[in-house]
Amino acid sequence: MSELKDFKCPNCGGRLEFDAQSQKLKCPYCEGTFDPEVFDEGNSFTVAGEKWEDENVLVYTCRSCGGTIMADKETAASSCPYCGNPVVMTSNVSGIYKPKKVIPFLLDKKQAKARYKEYLKGKVLLPDAFTNEATIDEMKGVYVPYWLFDGKASAKMWFDATRNRSWSEGDTICTETSYYKVFRSGSVRFEDIPVDASSKVDDALTQSLEPFDISQSKEFTDNYLAGYLADRYDVGVEESRDKANSRIANSTAALFSSTTGGYDTCVPSSSSMNIASGKQEYVLYPIWLLNVKYLGKLYTFAMNGQTGKFVGDLPYDKGKLTRILITVFAGVTAAATAVQYLLYLAR
Ligand SMILES: [Zn+2]
Ligand SMILES: [Zn+2]
Repeated sequence: MSELKDFKCPNCGGRLEFDAQSQKLKCPYCEGTFDPEVFDEGNSFTVAGEKWEDENVLVYTCRSCGGTIMADKETAASSCPYCGNPVVMTSNVSGIYKPKKVIPFLLDKKQAKARYKEYLKGKVLLPDAFTNEATIDEMKGVYVPYWLFDGKASAKMWFDATRNRSWSEGDTICTETSYYKVFRSGSVRFEDIPVDASSKVDDALTQSLEPFDISQSKEFTDNYLAGYLADRYDVGVEESRDKANSRIANSTAALFSSTTGGYDTCVPSSSSMNIASGKQEYVLYPIWLLNVKYLGKLYTFAMNGQTGKFVGDLPYDKGKLTRILITVFAGVTAAATAVQYLLYLAR
């Protein structure tokens, strides 16, 4: 048995969703708004979270329409596929899975769709799969689980450096090279290094959406999840700490290297580093995600739900490219066509 929670409006029984604009739980029917930090209408109820044939899939029953909600065992928030009723799987946001903090969505779906369309603007070779309204409407707000780590790196680094001096003596150019051993030592403190704790979301994607501003986070309550998708972590704290430590080591080395200016060459020769781990915290960060399938490949577009930072990668439609090239060939030289093609690739 597992608990499911939904979000009924105390005024009219409508379903509440967290509204990014007002930062309140909002009823779309009676326009009632409620503070997510204190809202508690006892909307949890117990349902049989039965296992499907596949161990990893759980089946719930929607209280609003009786429909079947199927979810991965990591799913923490979703909605009924039949009536849209937002639900939270409370066992995935409590106990060891309870986040300490959450950054609520600041940008809503309308803004995420507008940002995506702006990104598409001027890209004439795009396949229709990327531009039709039904696809764009698949944009989903997802809370991604993160571990945040504090740490302190104490490091020593040695560099081999040279400085050259040249002068002329009659017909001869003389060069004098001086060799230096450069030494740096010190410690660097890191706070809230984020590590994506969901194996379902590509680490490279989430890293490219950073930074998030943790100072705008709120104490976690599942009311912020109403109307969004969320997963609990499935990458443990120890494995994630290794990733955080390697980011700390790389940043420290880069920082030390940046202080060794004034030489003609300077390369690191050896180093020693000790990283002391500080506190860790489990948090949820907001991301807008759009997946587009095209010719058997999945293209992912994502926007930071707090800052609006957008990342994506687009293919081009070879059919459209050919059509455009034929038109261009009619009027101009082949060289101009090559330029056109390169301009597209450079975007
Ligand atoms: Zn209402
Ligand atoms: Zn339903």
